[in-house]
Amino acid sequence: MRKEDFPIFKTSVYGLPLVYLDSAATAQKPSVVIDKMTNFYQSHYGTVHRAIYKLSKEATFQYEETRSLVRAFLNADKNEEIIFTRGTTEAINLVAYSFGKAFIQPGDEILISEMEHHSNIVPWQLLVEDRGARLKVIPFDERGVLDLKAFEKLLSSKTKLVAVTHISNVLGTINPIKEIAKMAHAVNAKILVDGAQSAPHMKIDVQDLDVDFYLFSGHKIYGPTGIGVLYGKEALLNAMPPYQGGGDMIETVTFEKTTYNVLPLKFEAGTPMIAEVIGLGAAIRYLQNIGLEAIYTHEQELLNYATKKLKEINGIHILGNADKKGAILTFTLEKIHPLDLATFLDLQGISMRTGHLCAQPVMRHFGISSAIRVSFGLYNTKEEIDYFIECLKKAVEKMLWI
Ligand code: PLP
Repeated sequence: MRKEDFPIFKTSVYGLPLVYLDSAATAQKPSVVIDKMTNFYQSHYGTVHRAIYKLSKEATFQYEETRSLVRAFLNADKNEEIIFTRGTTEAINLVAYSFGKAFIQPGDEILISEMEHHSNIVPWQLLVEDRGARLKVIPFDERGVLDLKAFEKLLSSKTKLVAVTHISNVLGTINPIKEIAKMAHAVNAKILVDGAQSAPHMKIDVQDLDVDFYLFSGHKIYGPTGIGVLYGKEALLNAMPPYQGGGDMIETVTFEKTTYNVLPLKFEAGTPMIAEVIGLGAAIRYLQNIGLEAIYTHEQELLNYATKKLKEINGIHILGNADKKGAILTFTLEKIHPLDLATFLDLQGISMRTGHLCAQPVMRHFGISSAIRVSFGLYNTKEEIDYFIECLKKAVEKMLWI
């Protein structure tokens, strides 16, 4: 699907075609994103919001136009609810700091799940330590499915926030966010959803999901690095103090007292990532032209095809066998170290991830310290999966023989 849109696939790896199976870490960039950013730097570059000259007005227009694109992409109600951050990680840290300062008291509880990326664990640990609050963990079962009964038991009037991932970056599990949001709201808790692995692969509707915060990274949706999005319900964002102080986030500054700008600029201190925002806009347009539904269908086909082929290999253990999964396949192989396998496959032109995958608690759940992960993007093909499986079989044969 549209592989020709991505110039990186014209390059080779060790003289072999590149087979890129690490889109869950970061996605490759289509020409429309690269060209948009190059053109902006070459012909239109200027600062935003502060100046009246033509370049600045045009840059501001494109920057704010992207905010409208993101609003539509998430089906948020208002542009004021869309905050640009450096990525998912910064968006979570922003909420932990600012929501935490406004709403978390000693004895309060924050619930996260056992399948979170470190980015959705550590900021909450920092917060509860600071506020004298408690962090509690929703477990998942052997198939990698969240235990909603255990979740229900953990919920109480002390719960102030539930922070869960939409799609696990290791297990691939698609969590039932609408249901989780309903359960959280029933005890008056807020819900934050880590959309780093869902935004690139499926249509998101924050109003239908009824989530309070949703966040994702530009670089995983085929846009540039250094840009991410925090969606937050307007009333909540209005009730939260600024995360950082500096230019653009103020209304008036005196030495005695500073007043803050309105949303969304209250949370965007300093000169922002202008070209990155504009590149993100190009990525969103690109995804919308193809259609998120078409992307989802294509990637599900790849996932099912690869799962079937992988299961034919002796000694393989797939981590995560939920009924509803995103295009992520993580596994271990008996008697073969993930690093050895990845080194062998790299020499065949295949890029994939090994290690703890920024989810050490998930590794601990399965009693391992590292695993192998392949993940798919819209550009991957069944032929690439065939090649990967063929190389994998060769690697297993060689390594077991040694
Ligand atoms: N959450 C999940 C589920 C992820 O997969 C990732 C990145 O791999 C992140 C958060 C962090 O994203 P970033 O490093 O772009 O901030």
